[in-house]
Amino acid sequence: MAFIFTCGTHTFNSLLAGSENITAQCQNCGNFTAKVYKRWEWFTFCFVPLIPFSLKPHHEVGCHICHFYQDIRHRPDVQEMMNNGQSSQQIPMQPYGAPPQQYKAPSGPPQYV
Ligand SMILES: [Zn+2]
Repeated sequence: MAFIFTCGTHTFNSLLAGSENITAQCQNCGNFTAKVYKRWEWFTFCFVPLIPFSLKPHHEVGCHICHFYQDIRHRPDVQEMMNNGQSSQQIPMQPYGAPPQQYKAPSGPPQYV
């Protein structure tokens, strides 16, 4: 008489409520396809989730094209969108890598030394 116990893991994966309309850039493939997901891994026994691996679901930024997931703690830009995007949807993107504003002398020809 043999019992076959099936153990495994199950990952609950769903779009994070309230952040469905946030789309960020995937840092792996560069497409603007990354969404905020709630991922929660559970240990399953006979296909029944019993014990969560962690106390709370992870919040991850995931890309459905290349299946690249990264912890949202590594994406301060996405966190900012989540904090700001609740009331107003259209947040002007901060220009990334914009050159610092250069002070121009008000008068005088350029001096070549
Ligand atoms: Zn990607």
